[in-house]
Amino acid sequence: MVWVTDHPPKSVDLDSCVTCGLCLPVCPTFRLTGDETASPRGRLAAITAVAEGRIEVDERFDEITSFCLQCRACETACPSMLPYGEVIEAARAEAVAQVPRSNQAVRRLALGRALRSPLAMRASTIEAAVLQRLDVLGSLPIVGGATAGLRRLPLPLPSARGGAWGPEDAERVILFTGCVADTWFTEIHTATVQVLLAAGYRVEAPETQTCCGALASHSGFSSDADSMAHMNISSLSGDVPIVVNVAGCGAHLKAYGRYGDGGEGIAVSAKDVTEIVAEAIEAGRLPMLASNGERVVVQDPCHLEHGQNITREPRLVIEAAGYEVIDADPGGMCCGAAGLYQVDHPDMAEQLGVAKAAKVEATGVHLVASANAGCEMQLRRYLDGGYEVLHPIEIYARAHGMLG
Ligand code: SF4
Ligand code: SF4
Repeated sequence: MVWVTDHPPKSVDLDSCVTCGLCLPVCPTFRLTGDETASPRGRLAAITAVAEGRIEVDERFDEITSFCLQCRACETACPSMLPYGEVIEAARAEAVAQVPRSNQAVRRLALGRALRSPLAMRASTIEAAVLQRLDVLGSLPIVGGATAGLRRLPLPLPSARGGAWGPEDAERVILFTGCVADTWFTEIHTATVQVLLAAGYRVEAPETQTCCGALASHSGFSSDADSMAHMNISSLSGDVPIVVNVAGCGAHLKAYGRYGDGGEGIAVSAKDVTEIVAEAIEAGRLPMLASNGERVVVQDPCHLEHGQNITREPRLVIEAAGYEVIDADPGGMCCGAAGLYQVDHPDMAEQLGVAKAAKVEATGVHLVASANAGCEMQLRRYLDGGYEVLHPIEIYARAHGMLG
């Protein structure tokens, strides 16, 4: 075996693949290429071959594993319940540790250091806001295209970190503020806080929390992801609900049990905001509106549907805002956002983004709900003009007049 990291792919997980192939039809990269090495089964075969010492972790291994979107659709389809997300993250960490890439240092700086630093995030977002106003943000090399779907960044830039709202004696919840969520998607935090206040909660957003580590982990920077997880474990209390409004962050926090040291408590307490709000609506703590005769088309983010098994709650929240729910793409593929995937595999990311946008456009509905920041940007990038893409919680808060 030629693994070098502390947490390589586990043999017990690799051995649980019975090579049945049930995951192949749901895998976007296999569906679009027909190539076995671009399938979950093929990737697992490559990882197993390394574990058995038959091949090395080399550039080909790096290519095979990095072409995976980490959408986890294969996990939902797998009869062996193979934890594919964990396996591919461990395999990516091995590839990063063993296969040198020219841009590795810059990536590590961005994903491992900048994301955990509120100061760095704010400075880069203010710079992006200025470039956005000058209409040159989209022309930046490498990342310019990915910013096409960014919301209008507010200046001055608000932050929810360190905030507390509601009476001190009310039932407490913690708001997970995240990294880009607290700088690029501040309106979603505002809507989340307002809806939770209306439900009677006190909302606290501890100052010392940081990025969940998902982007670093998916990109193979496991030690950086570990250190972010430990910072969060020491700053977030695991004994009250931790409300998360980015599906990718929620899926990652719910896997904190792997870190021990209190990570198990965080994993249990982490809740997608639609889970908490749907529960409050069903319990009568939040109001429901009668039908307004309008429709919302819902996109299911992979890290909500496959990473957290949540599809009912966003629909319930939108219906309680008075809208009829239309499915964008039932049983469909990842939209291609997938963290840095658009930078590494722009052609595949574009094919998937265009395909998802076409599914949305085919519904004829112009208000779109997505509970994941990356998917929201990808949808906005590839949809024609005239579409509004919002988080379900924003749709609920706006319909109920909670945004002032
Ligand atoms: S995570 Fe998604 S892209 Fe990767 S192998 Fe599974 S289904 Fe395919
Ligand atoms: S569905 Fe599961 S067991 Fe079957 S080939 Fe895919 S990963 Fe292996």
